[in-house]
Amino acid sequence: MAGVLVIAEHRQGRFSDITREAIGAAVALKADVGGPVSVLVVHPEPAEAAAALNLLGVDEIITVAAATAGFDPHFHEEVAARMVEERRPRCVLLGHTADGMVLGPGLAVRLGSGFASDVFALDVRGDEIVATRGGHGGKVDIALAFPGKCLAVLMLRGASFPAPDAPGQAAVIDLPPPETPPVWRHLDYFEPELGGVDIATADFILSIGRGIQDEENVARFAALAERLGATLGCSRPVADSGWLHKAHQVGLTGKVAANCKLYMALGISGAVQHLHGMKHVETIIAVNTDANAPIFNVATYGVCMDLFDFAAALERQFN
Ligand code: FAD
Repeated sequence: MAGVLVIAEHRQGRFSDITREAIGAAVALKADVGGPVSVLVVHPEPAEAAAALNLLGVDEIITVAAATAGFDPHFHEEVAARMVEERRPRCVLLGHTADGMVLGPGLAVRLGSGFASDVFALDVRGDEIVATRGGHGGKVDIALAFPGKCLAVLMLRGASFPAPDAPGQAAVIDLPPPETPPVWRHLDYFEPELGGVDIATADFILSIGRGIQDEENVARFAALAERLGATLGCSRPVADSGWLHKAHQVGLTGKVAANCKLYMALGISGAVQHLHGMKHVETIIAVNTDANAPIFNVATYGVCMDLFDFAAALERQFN
């Protein structure tokens, strides 16, 4: 068994970043587990899909024509299981995403393979693949090996693996679709209304927590964020109270600030569930009146003061 199989993911035909990142992870593993790096893509426009995923280090792109752009996990599972049985890779990589969660665990059970979700680091020790994921709500990191398994299905966390940034020269192989009757039919497709907020792509986030005390103060911080050129984020209580749309929420049950370079946390205590979405950010400025708030454990700059005074100073500086 050798090589890595990446299962490409797209939303209505458009590839999500995680597919390119999974390709990056596969290419990085190639030196240790051997080739080929194969990318499996089920797509209504196979030629277009193959061109989009032809990245440096990919050896082959296997396309299977789909009747629609909608994700059908049963069809994907059938195609992927056949591909694994035929090509016998060391591991299968896919995204730790809503689609991945429907596909990955079932595929692993069907193949009798090792399995790990939410993987943010991959390593090879001896001849074992080691996957690292968070545990206990993000309090610890757990490194997992898969003894006795010659295959592991691994779901990768977004924004954890660099994607190749140059085009490749992969062979493209078109396969006929299996005759799997659809188990469901997509009737319609709705994008949630995000109000123009995309925490995952924002590079500067000004985030507010329960420390802002009242809904009527939200407008002040929204204006400050706009003035600074920041995206407005928040902790869960702010979203749960309906003060801001859920799209602004950072953390375990919100969004990961995947591309953020500067995160300003105002009146946020730093619960592990919030840290899950932002503790990796390069520069974190935390403002809190409680000098023992856990947010200061991850902050690059800690400011122990009233956040309203801090906001007033910024407003004066950037008026
Ligand atoms: P608090 O913990 O109440 O902190 C408020 C902070 O403001 C305090 O540190 C206080 O000292 C400070 N403060 C008060 N007044 C001022 C002032 N005038 N000036 C300066 N500082 C001040 N939380 C998330 O954020 N995102 C998630 O995705 C998420 N998912 C969760 C999933 C699960 C399964 C569970 C159980 C919880 C989740 N939570 C999440 C909730 C999380 O555990 C915390 O309850 C939450 O993050 C706390 O939000 P907070 O820091 O705004 O509020």
